[in-house]
Formats: sequence, structure tokens, C-alpha cells
Amino acid sequence: MLLELDNVTVAYGRIEALHGISLHVDEGEIVALIGANGAGKTTTMRAISGIRALAGGSIRFNGEDISRLRADLRVGRGLCQSPEGRQIFPGMTVLENLDMGAYTRRDAAGIAADLERVFGLFPRLAERRKQAGGTLSGGEQQMLAVGRALMSRPKLLLLDEPSMGLAPLVIKQIFDIVTEINQQGTTVLLVEQNAQQALSRAHRGYVLETGRIVKEGTGQELLHDPAVKEAYLGVA
Ligand code: ATP
Repeated sequence: MLLELDNVTVAYGRIEALHGISLHVDEGEIVALIGANGAGKTTTMRAISGIRALAGGSIRFNGEDISRLRADLRVGRGLCQSPEGRQIFPGMTVLENLDMGAYTRRDAAGIAADLERVFGLFPRLAERRKQAGGTLSGGEQQMLAVGRALMSRPKLLLLDEPSMGLAPLVIKQIFDIVTEINQQGTTVLLVEQNAQQALSRAHRGYVLETGRIVKEGTGQELLHDPAVKEAYLGVA
């Protein structure tokens, strides 16, 4: 197992948002975490990346207990989150944004190779490398956020709502690239409200409801599960 959450609890003040969730991600997988607004998807990501401290339970990554490890040190271990809402640096160029993603690294040759990889995955970013991040379209900013995360050469890429606010065609492009990134060897944990796309791309998935995992299965099992269909796929 590359990532393992065991009975993880997270609270905001006195309000518990995650009530002891357990899940795992194996090397090479795309795993999707789906759930409605407020189910705790973002909180789960924050717990994994280290932005929120745990109130209980533990997180293991690549054989190490990282439950209390600082967020920046987790990036150095190979865990990188591309955040919800993208959060690129709008005043910096595309290239500068991508360079920021490699801030924990010292291997110039490896960084240069990864930059070429990102430009290969996202030709639009290569065309716009000198343009300020803030002038890109929503889809391009999302691509930049994913590209920036890849520049840390993650063992596990955490993607928080990559489809948010994007047009259907752009969503498909983003998910095509997620699949490609995975086929190139990066493990992916994906949080999504777009359950259809996420489950159809994922090897496995978990359904989160009000801070609890209520269901798990392969992407295909969940896509065809009547309760999942009704609640998350808009099919009765
Ligand atoms: P969304 O898709 O809307 O982002 P989500 O599944 O990611 O939803 P979370 O954002 O993780 O859900 O929220 C889980 C619960 O924690 C919700 O009840 C939410 O109101 C609460 N919560 C989230 N962030 C905070 C915060 N900073 N302070 C207090 N409560 C919070």
C-alpha cells in the first residue's frame, strides 16, 4: 500500500468533520473519493497533505507513519496536492508557476525533464509559457495547477475537484490527462463531485457521506451501483 488512512478523525474546533475514515491507495492506481457537498472530501485531502492536523487515527505513506509530519516535508516525501480552486500564482508566468512546483528539488536535469513532460502533457501551457497565470482560461489554470503539482515529481498526486467550474469538453480533456499521467506511472487520488467521470476513470472508489465512508468498490462496481447511481449520477 502506498497510502493508508486508518480510522482518521478531523475536527474544526468542536465540530468533527471526519468520523474515523479508513481507506487505502495502492501503487499504480487511480482511486476516486466521491461525495456530496460538505461530505468531507476536501477535509480528507487536507488531512493527507498535512494542512489539517488529525484528531485521531493515523496516516501511513510509503511505509512511514506521516500522521504528524509537517505538510512541506510530506511534499518532499512524494505527496503532492493540486488544490481545489486551482490557486495558481496569477502574477507569475506559466513557467514561473511550474518552477514553484519544483521548489523542494535540487536536481536541475530532472526538473528540466519533468518540465518537458508537463509541456508534452499540456501543449497549451508550452505555448503560453511566458504568459501570466492569471490571464489563462479556467481550464488552462486547472492544467497549470496539475502541471505544477507534477513538477514535484510526486509518488502520489492528490487532485481536489479538477473538474470544478469547467465546461464538459474541458473536463474530458483534464480526465484524459489524469489517465495519461497515471499510465506514465504516477498514482492518483482524486476527489470529485463529478462522479461519472471520476468513477469511469478510477480503478477503485470510495463514497463519503457526512464524514464516513459508506461504500467502496471498483470504479465499475460503483458506477453500476443503484444507490450510487441515484445519489451521485442523477439516474433513478
Ligand atoms: P465541498 O465539495 O463543498 O468542498 P467537501 O466534501 O469537500 O465539500 P468539506 O469541505 O471537507 O466537504 O467539509 C466537511 C465538513 O466540514 C462540512 O460540514 C463543512 O461545513 C465543515 N468545514 C469545512 N471546512 C471548515 C472550516 N474551515 N471550519 C469549520 N467547518 C468546516
